[in-house]
Amino acid sequence: MASPQGRSLTPQGGRPMVNFASNDYLGLATHPTLKCAASDAADRWGTGSGASRLVCGTLLPHVTLESRLAEFKQAEAALTFSSGYACAVGTLGALAGKDDILILDKLCHASLVDGARLCGATLRVFPHNHLDKLESHLKWAQSKIQANGRIIVAVESIYSMDGDTAPLEAIVTLKEQYKALLLVDEAHSIGICGPGGRGLAAALGVASSIDFQMGTLSKALGGSGGYLCASRKWIDLLINRARSFIYSTAPSPISAAVATAAIDLVDSEEGDTLRSQLQSNITRLRALTGNSELTGPSAIVPLIVGESDAALSLSDALAKRGILAPAIRYPTVPKGSARIRFTTTTAHTDEDFVLLQDALTCR
Ligand SMILES: *Cc1c(COP(=O)(O)O)cnc(C)c1O
Repeated sequence: MASPQGRSLTPQGGRPMVNFASNDYLGLATHPTLKCAASDAADRWGTGSGASRLVCGTLLPHVTLESRLAEFKQAEAALTFSSGYACAVGTLGALAGKDDILILDKLCHASLVDGARLCGATLRVFPHNHLDKLESHLKWAQSKIQANGRIIVAVESIYSMDGDTAPLEAIVTLKEQYKALLLVDEAHSIGICGPGGRGLAAALGVASSIDFQMGTLSKALGGSGGYLCASRKWIDLLINRARSFIYSTAPSPISAAVATAAIDLVDSEEGDTLRSQLQSNITRLRALTGNSELTGPSAIVPLIVGESDAALSLSDALAKRGILAPAIRYPTVPKGSARIRFTTTTAHTDEDFVLLQDALTCR
């Protein structure tokens, strides 16, 4: 793209297209306050961190960000990574090994799947949001696990390709009943819902029962990086064991400073205004894609097409009408469920929705 992230995007050498594909839900990627934070940080701290966190790359902006994050998420401690992907892979790798059992929702993001595969733990997958199957895996795990083994359940709060939500209260009840640990990836809910934008777990009042609250700084927060919030004891373990944290250069001090400013912004009155603007755009997008039955706070609204070719040709037809909405296909989603994954942001206008509505009616 030859234009910054925003309401419309201009492909190199092409015409501007209305952007219905971005995860920059609140428009923070180009927000003046965050741009200022970035240039101030560049002046004060330069551009690079120079080394990994454990050598000499931990600069004050990293420490400030982690304490702001912990306070924001009402957790004891927080740790940040260069991406959400690195966070998932590093966290699961540090927590689980061959004596442990990991139980994942079938629709968990690739970063959790890769982390689960790499760590060598025994892996069980339950059909999406299927609580009975989750419970039977937990029962099985409890009968197999050795004295020092861990049982870890990993789910998302808002699923990235379907936009639906996990039944977090019921999952918390199960994890407590079977003495398992719970990781919840809030990549698509941090910033957009919950008190102060703290995410879905906080909205449902279950955040304090979640052992590992994971997420990314790169979607609604408009920057880059991944985070994990947990007890001090768990964060200390990760600092010493998470390989993607230890063996990677510390994120740029600029991205750390931008993320701190982004949290301040989502946790303010302006954040509340942006969230209510986003929610009205979500209602509008759901209505015009025939998804009015969708509930929950998600800005992701899929239009399931079926075969990959059909999804590609719909995406092409939309592109001809000036709408950017790529087709999502296998292996990102199961075979036969290729789709257009529409997302909306605070930036979309009346005109944009009319354009999309016309394009979808005429197809
Ligand atoms: C995007 C995403 C990630 C990865 O975060 P990055 O910061 O983009 O690496 C992890 N989990 C989920 C559910 C995501 O949607």
